[in-house]
Amino acid sequence: MDLTLAWVHIGVMYFSGFCGAVGKEVLLSSANLVDLRDGPHGFELHYSCHCGQPGVVYPSVGAIGRCGEPACV
Ligand SMILES: [Zn+2]
Repeated sequence: MDLTLAWVHIGVMYFSGFCGAVGKEVLLSSANLVDLRDGPHGFELHYSCHCGQPGVVYPSVGAIGRCGEPACV
């Protein structure tokens, strides 16, 4: 699965992450954003999944986000 990262003209960002609670990829938006950081794997996008678990996306390495468990890149 490819990371879906799209910026629309109104400035709302959409991205996808794998949700372990529902067992599939879910669409997330800037409303789910918790934090943006610069970590050892580059730019990190921390989000709060629909299921309530935290998740992280690493756009610079093309890794899809995943909630509910420590990120492993
Ligand atoms: Zn989830």
